[in-house]
Amino acid sequence: MNDCIFCKIINKEIKSDFLYEDKNFIIINDINPISKGHCLLIPKTHFQTIFDLPQEYPNKILNIIQKQSLNLIKQNLATGIKIIQNNYPSAGQTINHFHIHIIPQK
Ligand code: 5GP
Ligand code: ZN
Repeated sequence: MNDCIFCKIINKEIKSDFLYEDKNFIIINDINPISKGHCLLIPKTHFQTIFDLPQEYPNKILNIIQKQSLNLIKQNLATGIKIIQNNYPSAGQTINHFHIHIIPQK
């Protein structure tokens, strides 16, 4: 996807600090955080929405969310964690590359 900002970040055409990286996913801080520590879990492959994910992804995603959420709690950035995931513009999706918001709450 030539014009996708998240693909550019994943391909390191745009600099961004990776809080987490494995074969299939990265986590980066949101550029416009709702709260300190607000980050985005993003698959390296350009899937548009939740409907495009491979069958084995939800389990992997849940594991990473749990780990990152516990990290945020350990760092005292959160006592609670809000997970948000928008699909299609009518639901508030502004970046056309599937991602999950992990948002610390206090
Ligand atoms: P959406 O509304 O699509 O669910 O969320 C997109 C999120 O991506 C927004 O919270 C926005 O602040 C974030 N975002 C947009 N562009 C960039 C960027 O270039 N870098 C980072 N780190 N986050 C971005
Ligand atoms: Zn993309």
